[in-house]
Order: sequence, then structure tokens, then C-alpha cells
Amino acid sequence: MGGTSVENPLTVRGLRPRASSGGAPETVRYDRRGPPFAAYHAALVDRPALLQPSRAELRERFAAAGLAPRWADVLRRALLHGWDPASGPPPVRRAQPPRDLLERVAEIATWSSLREHAVAASPDGVSKSLFRLHDGEAVEAVALPGARRPSACLSTQVGCAMACRFCASGLDGVRRNLAAHEVLEQLALLRRRGPVQRLVLMGAGEPTRNLRAVVAALRVLRDEGSLGPRHVLLSSVGPAAAIRRVTATGLPVTLALSLHAPDRALRAELVPTQPDAEPAELLDACDAHSTATGGRPYQVEYVLLGGVNDAPAHAAALSDLLHGRRAHVSLIAWNAVPGLPFAAPSPPRAAAFLATLRRAGVSAALRRTLGAPATAACGQLRASRAV
Ligand code: SF4
Repeated sequence: MGGTSVENPLTVRGLRPRASSGGAPETVRYDRRGPPFAAYHAALVDRPALLQPSRAELRERFAAAGLAPRWADVLRRALLHGWDPASGPPPVRRAQPPRDLLERVAEIATWSSLREHAVAASPDGVSKSLFRLHDGEAVEAVALPGARRPSACLSTQVGCAMACRFCASGLDGVRRNLAAHEVLEQLALLRRRGPVQRLVLMGAGEPTRNLRAVVAALRVLRDEGSLGPRHVLLSSVGPAAAIRRVTATGLPVTLALSLHAPDRALRAELVPTQPDAEPAELLDACDAHSTATGGRPYQVEYVLLGGVNDAPAHAAALSDLLHGRRAHVSLIAWNAVPGLPFAAPSPPRAAAFLATLRRAGVSAALRRTLGAPATAACGQLRASRAV
């Protein structure tokens, strides 16, 4: 990436910069290089991205071009582990790549269908990338290098159909599903900056609405990317049937249920696409998934919206709902999204909510807003850029 650096240019489409939560300002870097999108798209038709075909199909493509199929394996693995083709051939043990390997591969394949278009970096090391897709769409992904295990949060759809009222990603609905290789390429590009040992599918999109591609991507990661499903946190708003479909894949991912309310009526206001989802039924499906995958706890995500779902009564009702379940509650103090009619909870109110849960014996934490303002809420970078 070789972009220009500017400070807080978030005034595109008439949006004003969001109030910072303190600390040094984020730096946003835009990359304006690269071919026009028509040419970019056309290149992919003749030369698919290296992670686009299956491993077997890519080996055949290499063989047809007179290249040893093992180089297909080597290059796919290297890409998935963060290798940048601009740095020359990847290091290979006990073998010397042909001198013209990269040139010959470039004739039959494209290194990546994604291009990093903008990066917003926070002083705590977290960075949010805006990736352009081959058809001109854009998705976000976040690298969290300072976490206990270096992590990445990826998108699974362009936009989201779930329309959660507090979320920037749901503002324009869903535009399309990502292909498996587009999920993988987000990780491959983030790994160029540092290791990623844990994956969070909590960016834009509802993973269960694109489960076939998500499962295909997770299998490739398990087999070729040194990242097994036990190190994947898959977020879902439900419904319960969608959670059961995740369990049926047999992949032992950890679930993160986006609950946000302790009762059906309030949840229906916040997640209007699921007016009938009963919180207890959603949690029953999560308990069943936990049992099927070794009994590990799952997460319950609860975005605290000031004056909406952060009252003591909500905390008490949530405690009752979670009694005896293998749930860990992740409270997230809402970050302002321009144009959305919510307020952040006051710090004392958020602390009291957390204390109520813990007094009731519920495992819970108030999530540190890592990367604020860069990672404030899903969809914000995309929403604030003319993409
Ligand atoms: S919070 Fe998640 S599920 Fe809801 S609209 Fe946003 S991306 Fe979709």
C-alpha cells in the first residue's frame, strides 16, 4: 500500500466527523492507485484470484500452464499466511522456485480480488481496512494485533439485511453475499501486517445468511491457513433455526449471539427483521451448539443503548434469562453512528448493568472499545466513505 495520509477526512457525503472518544486522532490513509474497476473486473474473468478456485482446480490450472501443481499449494498457503507477492517469491524449504514463477502465475491468475482502499489506524494499534471488491463494492475488516491472541474481524456480506436499528452496516440493506475467497482475502491482506490467530465473523453481514461461503472459507483456513474453527467466533442475530444450521455444519466454532434485549418486544424494536424471535429460544439453540461442540461457553453480545436497554430492570431480566446457561455476556457501550437516533450509555449506568449481572453469577465483561475511533461500530468506515 502506498497511499496518502490525511487526518479525519470523514466529511464525505456531508457526514461530519464523529466526536472522538478521546486519545490521539485516527489516521486514515487512502490508496488511489490501481487500475480502473472495469479493467480490474475484466482481469478476474480470465485470471481468477488465486484463492477463488478450489485447491484441486488451481492445481489443474497450474498443470495446464506447465507449472508444477505443488507451486499452487505453496502460493495459496503463502497468501493465506500474509505473503505479499510484491516482495518476491515466498520462502520455501528444501526447494527453489522457478526464477520466473511469479511472472508465469500472473499470466493465469490474479493475486487477490480485493484491494485495500483505505485504512483507519488507531493509536492502540487497531486498524480498520476498507477493501474494494472486484465489482466496485466495498467491505470492512479490522485487525486487532494487541488482543491476547492477535485477531481479525471480517465481513461476510456487503451490507446486511438484518437492519438492526443501531448499526451502520444495516443502513442500506444487503447488496450481495461475499464469495468464500473474498472472506479469505480479507484475512490474507490483514496478515500482511502481522499474525492473526483468531477470527471474528462480526463485521458487516449476518454469517448465517451466507453460510455456504462462510463454511467453505473456514474449511480452507483450517486446511491451508493454520487457523482452525475452534479459533473462530461466529456472530449471529438468529433466528434459532439459523443457529441450528451452524451446529449442523459440524464446525466447532464458538457462537456469539447478538441479543441486545432480554425480552421479545424490545428485541423486536432493535432487530425488526426478527419480530418473533424469543430470546430464550435463541439461547436454547446456543446451549445446544455448545453441547455439540464440547461444552465451551458461547458469547452473548449486548449493545448498551443509553435510555433504551440499559436500565436496572433490563439487567435483572437478562440475569434471569441467562441463569444456568453457558453464556458469557459481552457488553458493548454503543458508539455513535451519524444519523442514528441513539446515545451512548453513561459510564455509571454501564458499570451498574455489569455489576447486576455479576452479582447474579453471570459471567460478563464490559468490552474495551479497542480501536475507538477506528473500529467504533461495524460499517462506519464504509458508510463514511464515498465508495
Ligand atoms: S448489527 Fe450485525 S446483524 Fe445487525 S445490521 Fe449490523 S451487521 Fe447486520
